Amino acid sequence: MFHGVRGSTPCHSPEVQRYGGNTSCVSVAAPGEYPLIFDLGTGVRYFGATLDASVQCLNVLVSHLHWDHIQGLPFLPQLQCDGCEINVWAPAQDDGRSARDCFAAAITEPVFPVALDSIGAQIAIRDVVPSEWEIGSFTVRAAKVPHIGPTLGYRVTYDDRSVVYVSDHQEPADPKWFAPDVLDLCEAADVLIHDAQFVDADYAGREHWGHCRIDYAMSLAIAARVSTLVMFHHDPSRSDDELDAIEAEYQRRGAEVGIEVVVAREGMEMTIPCHADSHA
Ligand SMILES: [Zn+2]
Ligand SMILES: [Zn+2]
Repeated sequence: MFHGVRGSTPCHSPEVQRYGGNTSCVSVAAPGEYPLIFDLGTGVRYFGATLDASVQCLNVLVSHLHWDHIQGLPFLPQLQCDGCEINVWAPAQDDGRSARDCFAAAITEPVFPVALDSIGAQIAIRDVVPSEWEIGSFTVRAAKVPHIGPTLGYRVTYDDRSVVYVSDHQEPADPKWFAPDVLDLCEAADVLIHDAQFVDADYAGREHWGHCRIDYAMSLAIAARVSTLVMFHHDPSRSDDELDAIEAEYQRRGAEVGIEVVVAREGMEMTIPCHADSHA
């Protein structure tokens, strides 16, 4: 489920109301598993508020440490729960600091009244390098993604279903080129949730801001043969009407190549059917 779909900064105005203004946060649910969360943008606060007290463990995959991907953490209701366990995986930094050091530097006085170490819940923050591991019955694979600063994309597999999360992705000078690690991560995924920050009209002068044009997301989805592409991390200035037009245009293009295209909005839920069922 999508709880925050904006990039860069939260936004709020009548023009962005339908798709929502919270920053990156997506949850993945599976029977018998604790919630798995992509990123801790402002949307995570709303997700946390939907969980009942029996949920004592949250597992979070953080793509990178830019504000829009972590700023919801201090307001996650489960932080106030003494018995709650919050496991965070985040990219290892290149300068020797741990991800925990970086979170601790962001959640402390004077910018926040409570230090990370004084918060009630048990928060374990682990440094991640490209690798594969298990979280309950989920298999998680992390791969480096070109952006600004250490950034990871994640592929989560449950049974035979897969979802890939590549929230912030720097478009290369040659838009026909794909980082091999990213292409491999996305290969034949059921769902690819991907950066869709720019359109051609606003890309000029922003080529090095760490993001891509929607066309690049579409090209990657085609190259990686994904089934569904979810446009995500919308520019905060992108209006609902513009997103409607983007969805119509790219659904048309997707239909030509057999890819379902969806523009992410807050509150949107997707169900990935089991392949074994569909062949039964
Ligand atoms: Zn971002
Ligand atoms: Zn970023």
